[in-house]
Amino acid sequence: MLKCCSLYSGSSGNSFFIQSEHTNILIDAGVSCKKIENTLKNSFNLSLDNIDAIFVTHEHIDHTKSLNLISSKYNLPVYASCGTWNAIKSKTEKISPNNKKIFDLNKSFVFNDLRIFPFSTPHDAAEPCGFNIYKDNSKISIATDLGYIDDSILNNLKNSSFLMLESNYEPGILKLSSYPYQLKKRITSQNGHLSNNAASEAISKLVKHGLKDILLIHLSKENNIPEIAYETVIQKLQSTKYPINNINLNIAPRDNISQIYNIY
Ligand SMILES: [Zn+2]
Ligand SMILES: [Zn+2]
Repeated sequence: MLKCCSLYSGSSGNSFFIQSEHTNILIDAGVSCKKIENTLKNSFNLSLDNIDAIFVTHEHIDHTKSLNLISSKYNLPVYASCGTWNAIKSKTEKISPNNKKIFDLNKSFVFNDLRIFPFSTPHDAAEPCGFNIYKDNSKISIATDLGYIDDSILNNLKNSSFLMLESNYEPGILKLSSYPYQLKKRITSQNGHLSNNAASEAISKLVKHGLKDILLIHLSKENNIPEIAYETVIQKLQSTKYPINNINLNIAPRDNISQIYNIY
């Protein structure tokens, strides 16, 4: 069984928690150490001392803000791709060399009782990735900060029973927002972020492969509205005649813990 949730999610900072019988891990640490400490304490009665490692998707500050502090304060191993390590070199000086662990993308490895598969994602970062995490017969996936979902990513996400998927922006809202043109162009580019439509399109395909629990993550504060992200998925599923009672769809709150999922 895997227990998982989002602790914080959005452009203001991301961190996700996954627990198995013998292992506690974080994916990303993009909010302050204090915030992560408080949420782990209040929701799980855990300290960062109880965390076994942090796995990093990419170098952007909303995913790495407190890596340096947490790893040095709690002597925690941090796992990231070589490209990500190079990109955060100057911001991770306090992390002991022993705790700087490198993984190869698209190659699975074992961590305690988990198997972890980092897969490449298209994003304007050095060597970004999503993660599939396996425990016995359970598979969960996390895919955030990606410009599009092609067949290769879709294949990586197939047969997961729980998916945390970016649903970053609503095109109509982004179009009218006060963001500068260049930034809008970056967000909607192939190496930018995933729109509500693109997320719903992927979900409508993945529900046919066993996906039941879905948490939409990394919603933009300025360019999205949680109700619209939610409705876009529901309407897409309805348009394909998929029985929506079969799925449990939620939106990760920006500054709070999400629903806690037990995945068997
Ligand atoms: Zn991000
Ligand atoms: Zn990013």
